[in-house]
Amino acid sequence: MLTVDSLQVTYGGAVEAVRGVSMEVPDGAVVAVLGSNGAGKSTLLRTISGTLRLHRGRVDAGSVRLGDLDLTRRDAGQIVRAGVVQVPEGRRIFGRLTVEENLRAGGMGNRDRAAKAEAVARVHDLFPVLRERAGQRAGLLSGGEQQMLAIGRALMASPRLLLLDEPSLGLAPRVIGQIGEVVAEINRQGTAVLLVEQNATMALGVADRAYVLDVGKVSLSGNARELAQTDEVQRLYLGHT
Ligand code: ATP
Repeated sequence: MLTVDSLQVTYGGAVEAVRGVSMEVPDGAVVAVLGSNGAGKSTLLRTISGTLRLHRGRVDAGSVRLGDLDLTRRDAGQIVRAGVVQVPEGRRIFGRLTVEENLRAGGMGNRDRAAKAEAVARVHDLFPVLRERAGQRAGLLSGGEQQMLAIGRALMASPRLLLLDEPSLGLAPRVIGQIGEVVAEINRQGTAVLLVEQNATMALGVADRAYVLDVGKVSLSGNARELAQTDEVQRLYLGHT
């Protein structure tokens, strides 16, 4: 279980991006985080994945724990080895490398060749298009395919918990539906997922629990299906008037 307790994060000592957030991601669950631009969603993920420092952010108070392990302020490599892997916003694939090379880059921490081959096979089964395009430059893939490659690359590290930052961004509705199905399948295979999304329909469709962030604080939380029925979520995030 991932536990975030009373987390406070600032940028440059001034901008308070996360103001006392507490949340839990139970083992094997899908948990969604919704919220408008600037709510602090990416900051929360950066803090969990240990990449906050790259953005000049700092944890001022609170903690992030994975089971008994304190992850607060650890570096990104240690956090990946603990089993927590982030798919960054904007995908960040290596466009000039092939699809296969991108996947292998995600499995670098794994020296066992057989385990690596097994991980590639699992990713190919989830995303057959990545097998078909294995030798092609990743930059030539469509936006949806690049998102699938970014998720596949993260899975190469065999995470216990996968962190996804707005995987639906810029994708067509049909492709967003496919991403939702893939998240559900990854979860069925035993990986917990923390899904940050502006697309509430997709996120609440696939999540067990959800949290709504508003200016750095949790404004609502609960069972995803029940949250989808609340007036606030219907009005603000599901486009109902
Ligand atoms: P979006 O969906 O637009 O990415 P978000 O919910 O992910 O929004 P964050 O990106 O976490 O929100 O931003 C939270 C607050 O922190 C905002 O006020 C933002 O301007 C600020 N912020 C984010 N990154 C930095 C940074 N590197 N330096 C300074 N301020 C930042």
